[in-house]
Amino acid sequence: MASGKYKHHEHQGFQKGHRQFAGFQSGNKLGAANKGRIFSEATIKKMSKASKGRKHTDEWKAQARLRKGELSGRWKGGITPIHNQIRGSYEYKLWEDSVLSRDCHCCQRCGEKRISKLTVHHIKNFAQYPELRFAIDNGITFCRDCHKNFHHFYGKKGNFFEQVKQFLTLTF
Ligand SMILES: [Zn+2]
Ligand SMILES: [Zn+2]
Repeated sequence: MASGKYKHHEHQGFQKGHRQFAGFQSGNKLGAANKGRIFSEATIKKMSKASKGRKHTDEWKAQARLRKGELSGRWKGGITPIHNQIRGSYEYKLWEDSVLSRDCHCCQRCGEKRISKLTVHHIKNFAQYPELRFAIDNGITFCRDCHKNFHHFYGKKGNFFEQVKQFLTLTF
């Protein structure tokens, strides 16, 4: 397997995605759908009433302090908390933003544009390739549904670019 070949195809894949879904970017359809997602006044009133009614006891406050302490870096719970810490870091956010803007903020398979639906997938696994965690070439924008399907089809371990390339051509 020549790594030069891999690079070449990778770029073509992304370009193809852009052209294919360019039509989505000027349409109003998705914008109109978004307008429906607003809480009604009655719901807001209900929500604020509920939060006012809740009094924090001293015990609750002590527990909250304890929870905060657990979150501030005294983890001894194995590798997942460390990964979660990385995923919550500024560097990770920066990596996500870079991939999203390179991909024109749309899912490279289906063209989904709503930002709340988008996620960035690691082409080569986050866990297995620590050196590629923040490589922009190692990220691709998927919506949550396509992302779920990707890992449903290809599993969560040992992922590589050929899978992504194939996934982009699938219709389902
Ligand atoms: Zn993924
Ligand atoms: Zn999608």
